[in-house]
Amino acid sequence: MKHSRWSWPFYCGSCEEPYSSEGFPHVCPACGGIFKLQLPLPVEVDEARRPIRKGMGQYRRSLPLPPDATLVSIGEGGTPLLPQVVDQRTIFFKCEHLNPTGSFKDRGSAVIVSALLAEGVREAVEDSSGNAGASFAAYCARSGIRATVYVPEYAAGPKRAQIEMAGAEIVPVPGPRSAASDAVRQRAEAGTAYASHAHLPHVLAGMATMAFEIVDQLGSAPGALVLPVGQGTLLLGAYYGFESMLAAGRISSMPKIVGVQARACAPIWEAFSRGEDGLDYSGEGETLAEGIRIARPLRLDAVLAAVQASGGRILAVEEQQIIEGRDALASKGFYVEPTSAVVWPALGTVLAELPDPVVVVLTGSGFKDTRVI
Ligand SMILES: [Zn+2]
Repeated sequence: MKHSRWSWPFYCGSCEEPYSSEGFPHVCPACGGIFKLQLPLPVEVDEARRPIRKGMGQYRRSLPLPPDATLVSIGEGGTPLLPQVVDQRTIFFKCEHLNPTGSFKDRGSAVIVSALLAEGVREAVEDSSGNAGASFAAYCARSGIRATVYVPEYAAGPKRAQIEMAGAEIVPVPGPRSAASDAVRQRAEAGTAYASHAHLPHVLAGMATMAFEIVDQLGSAPGALVLPVGQGTLLLGAYYGFESMLAAGRISSMPKIVGVQARACAPIWEAFSRGEDGLDYSGEGETLAEGIRIARPLRLDAVLAAVQASGGRILAVEEQQIIEGRDALASKGFYVEPTSAVVWPALGTVLAELPDPVVVVLTGSGFKDTRVI
């Protein structure tokens, strides 16, 4: 299906060629560069829609989809923002783990799969440590698109089960997370649409809706946002969301953005702390926080620039702290997976320097990883 007088609001970050949807490319066909999102996003809420429930549909006009495209939905967004006293301060927890497949990835999948459907794509592949794959599989099931998901062999059981139950084909790949990416790229080069959360700029606009919701829920911009960071799509998308609201005059300040990594695999922290050379010190070590075990983030420069522009910082936490964080959050009723729990020890380190209101993002459900450690 082609859409006259409408073009995808993306361009190549290297050669600046506009995006062409021909073949649903995941990188620039001319130079191999990563696509960027045109900013600012439009931020008007669609009051006329009167949705049955609050969710991403309210921000339909902000999403990079043709005006006549269907938004494939299974109830993403509209997640609670819950206050919790921590060190005598009221902190707000954005419960992204309560999205329909149990992770924030649903915001990205809704946009990617809607775009696939709008372009008439009938089959797509994705690589994932679990959450993106489970989410992608569910949205494909909803829309009738045939899905194949390449996962690292070590990915936790429940996520794999989610993918299989949605009817997607699953391909386990031995070795580190990057091995699954290499395998799926070969498939993409052979011509199958690669619905990559890391590559596709659609995802960033989906993530921006979390920022829109937080502002709507607080009635103002947060003073700071604390969240786990692997590829950085949630961090960047949230930053773009706040930036778009600043441009529209909806908020008057940018929150400080604090990204948290696992020390075992912390390239963004290394680069933030030591400059570009920092990557030389960063490995792909094993961590309980498997969702953020990304050795070479695709948008590293953009993530660093966003954090610096916001006046925030990147932190790294140890494995023992992740376990303690998971337990501490569970003891307050927030049952999240270890990847999400990196925010807890980080909060202990930076809370004193963050302005109110502080929002902490919980990214994935505890049902995703039921190991008791
Ligand atoms: Zn290019």
